[in-house]
Amino acid sequence: NPVIRTICCVGAGYVGGPTAAVIAFQNPHIRVVVVDKDPVRIRRWNSRHPPIYEPGLADIVRIARDGSRECSVEDTGDKKIPSRTPNLMFSTDISRYIGEADIVLIAVNTPTKYRGAGAGSATDMTAFEAVTGEVAQHARPGAIIVEKSTVPCRTAQLMQETMAVHRPGVHFEILSNPEFLAAGTAVNDLLYPDRVLIGSLPTASGQRAAEALAAIYGAWVPRHRILTTNVWSSELAKLVANSMLAQRISSINSIAAICERTGADVDEVAASVGYDARIGNKFLKAGIGFGGSCFKKDILSLVYLSESLGLEEVAEYWRQVVTMNEYARDRFTHRVVKCLNNTLRGKKATVLGYAFKKNTSDTRESPALEIIKTLLEEGPREIAVFDPCCNPVVMREEIKELLGGDRVLRSEGGSLEIYTNAYEACADSNAILITTDFDEFGSRPPIMGGAAAAAAAAAKSGTAPATATTAPAPVKKTGKTDPRPFATAEPSENDLLALHKYLINSATDDKVSED
Ligand code: NAD
Repeated sequence: NPVIRTICCVGAGYVGGPTAAVIAFQNPHIRVVVVDKDPVRIRRWNSRHPPIYEPGLADIVRIARDGSRECSVEDTGDKKIPSRTPNLMFSTDISRYIGEADIVLIAVNTPTKYRGAGAGSATDMTAFEAVTGEVAQHARPGAIIVEKSTVPCRTAQLMQETMAVHRPGVHFEILSNPEFLAAGTAVNDLLYPDRVLIGSLPTASGQRAAEALAAIYGAWVPRHRILTTNVWSSELAKLVANSMLAQRISSINSIAAICERTGADVDEVAASVGYDARIGNKFLKAGIGFGGSCFKKDILSLVYLSESLGLEEVAEYWRQVVTMNEYARDRFTHRVVKCLNNTLRGKKATVLGYAFKKNTSDTRESPALEIIKTLLEEGPREIAVFDPCCNPVVMREEIKELLGGDRVLRSEGGSLEIYTNAYEACADSNAILITTDFDEFGSRPPIMGGAAAAAAAAAKSGTAPATATTAPAPVKKTGKTDPRPFATAEPSENDLLALHKYLINSATDDKVSED
């Protein structure tokens, strides 16, 4: 089997950064270099504050990137935690590190195409294709090239052809290794994956390459969780996994609409159905629908694939999952407006939660934005927005850009206000909408009091009407707590032990993977 000394990951985003950091952390003998064309991103990965927030990530990056000294800590008894030298780097020198790598992971963005052929459903392969071209030019002969991005089925064939054009006669093995981590639980998902999927060609060299990649994961993932398939199955499986997760959410949201008309309670229905072991109880929470950068684009990619294969009925079946998702979100907003006597004139509504789910600052495809947009169209006195994980300055700019106007914010004569405090956001509000499942909004009384808890129930179950009420007076100002169990300002010798404990504890968490 090929000896792996250096791995280069192209793309330092939500997937590339955490994945490379965990691979480096678990394989101290391998040098892992993450490259990106965005110098600001790279600078932030090289700083003490990575560009994305994920519980545990900053510590893993720090240990792998900066190394650590040997330490023995009280709780470990006799055991000493060995020192380690740095083996994780972030750089903008893309061609150099591609050229030095035995394995190149491609983890760049593959969004939905928004213009040209297939606009609205096909995958935009611009970034992926550009990187494939760079890899073709600079990779060393025999390097293993890995699709980490989510790509349409049969992309490996296009890569093979591109490589052959740029480097005729040079052999590269191409693998598919889709990522299943979810935003908000990325580190845990990477450390304790349900499975690692590696697709290869069924040739002897294809299988050797798959083995080499499996050995990297084998440093911490039990062998029975590393699945090897043919490359097309692996590419397709990622799209299918996300589409089926999203389908469950749309299914239960469609049932929520029936519940509201019949007096059934969707939470009770979901629990009863979920007890059936064949169905299971995960992903059966009714609500305002799914968001995030992956579900919608991956279903649409499946729709496009079906259409291009002439499978119209199949395409229509999957498209309906997206339609139902938009219906669930809009139904919720319309109920809020209805509860306010069909007018928001002179009224204030508060939206708690702007990211697409809790514990992340990722706002891509967040349903909250569409809800804010619809509420603003009603001409309210104020729409107040608060999110514990999102930077208010970034939120302001992003919402302004997405809503395409200069007169959006209250300071500019519009009606939108971003708050840094939930109580201030809720003061004098006629309706509080809980649009993200942050614990502090719903399940940890008395932080928000009864009115917000009722609104939380509305958002969560999709069955109760949105609460039109005045916000309760703050009971206690709790402030934002840092969910990271070992967030220290300076690296300390206890970090490794704390990390070790955290890793062990989080292994037993009930894990729900979304992306
Ligand atoms: P991202 O937008 O966060 O990061 C992509 C990075 O690639 C950016 O930093 C960008 O600057 C860089 N890039 C683009 N073109 C480049 C080029 N030519 N050279 C060098 N760098 C380049 O994207 P992401 O969320 O990390 O997603 C990456 C892939 O992983 C996508 O295919 C996505 O579908 C898939 N995925 C994402 C998630 C998730 O939770 N976000 C989960 C599983 C899979």
